Amino acid sequence: MPADQLAERLTALRADYEDLQAKGLELDLTRGKPGADQLDLSEGLLSLPTGHRDRSGADVRNYGGLEGLTEIREVFADLLGVDTAQVVAGGNSSLTMMYQVVTWLLLHGAPDSPRPWSQEEKVTFVCPVPGYDRHFTMLAELGIDMVTVPMHDDGPDVPAVRALVADDPSVKGMWLVPTYANPTGAVCSTEVAADLMAMPTAAPDFRILWDNAYVVHHLTDVETKSADALGLASASGHPNRPIMFASTSKITFAGAGVAALAASPENKAWYLKRLSYAAIGPDKVNQLRHVEFFGDADGVRAHMRKHRDLIAPKFAAVQEALSARLDGLGVATWSQPVGGYFVDLNVMDGTAARVVQLAKEAGIALTPAGSAFPYGNDPDDRNIRLAPTFPALAEVEAAMAGVAVCVELAAVEKLTA
Ligand code: PLP
Repeated sequence: MPADQLAERLTALRADYEDLQAKGLELDLTRGKPGADQLDLSEGLLSLPTGHRDRSGADVRNYGGLEGLTEIREVFADLLGVDTAQVVAGGNSSLTMMYQVVTWLLLHGAPDSPRPWSQEEKVTFVCPVPGYDRHFTMLAELGIDMVTVPMHDDGPDVPAVRALVADDPSVKGMWLVPTYANPTGAVCSTEVAADLMAMPTAAPDFRILWDNAYVVHHLTDVETKSADALGLASASGHPNRPIMFASTSKITFAGAGVAALAASPENKAWYLKRLSYAAIGPDKVNQLRHVEFFGDADGVRAHMRKHRDLIAPKFAAVQEALSARLDGLGVATWSQPVGGYFVDLNVMDGTAARVVQLAKEAGIALTPAGSAFPYGNDPDDRNIRLAPTFPALAEVEAAMAGVAVCVELAAVEKLTA
């Protein structure tokens, strides 16, 4: 666009932005959490369980059963595509299980570690970006270095990962959200998963923390299956490489669901051994409640379709608002996820922080720019994570129309600066 037209556009956009500010909005697209209507879908849990005993006859109100009820482990096994014997069902948070695993790797090392990770000079994780902020803040908290690789539509950039892990034994692990990644919505293909499980690594105890938080969170009627991480790892001679995590946080209650871990027999025994010093058993009452509520894995799948019906219109509203203003301008691209909880917006380089600031000053809270990168550092200052599930549909529509104004305004400000 020639300079005079850009200047004109800037004037028009400033007027649009003033109109936006005049609306006095108070909207929030930061929180990747279920809306109240979604939580209501699981209200029935609150009057369960009706029984006190699990299938083996154990009283779930009492201590014991460290690996969790067999019947809930069967449900997770079906959803995750693994054997029930590989699953541990735990408390309400898979993030806590990830934190336990990383902490215990530092304190004790894995079964195949030469020494505890904390005795290494340096421990480094490969982090596909953009990614989940809490994965990165956890590692920063624990003193683990992070190196990034690009996340593509079919998973992490395999040549980049290979180059990092091949010769450097300090590279001990990697995060991966394989299905409907946070925030891009990417689904890791079987080919990429197979490469990651088979690739040579300098560290003999390299781990891929396979965080399948959104394994059944489809936004369309295509119910994509995750790659068989444990099977692929075994087949390539690295059965201990992946440790899988999931939870019902965004299936039932985000604060009171059931989390699970799945791994090789050796990894599972290692995890349970460490756990045995920290707990006598999980909340089996909650586990039984979930089993009674769902019946089986198909019960979970049917329940997820009800979630889909509630949130798919919100994701559609995000697409419509962005397209309506930004299509064809060349100032932004965004993901069109078919599952998960986020839309990943890439604005003109160098303007993400400005977009977030403009939105804030118009009463629209967005996740801070850079939060999907280790240390909060997006080198291109272009990535913004949008979370449309929590606000009501009309709020998503209003907020996103406003965000689109901010994206274009920030771009034209930069072009005319
Ligand atoms: N993993 C990912 C990728 C997430 O996006 C989230 C929540 O946003 C979690 C884990 C948190 O899981 P949980 O509630 O089971 O601790």
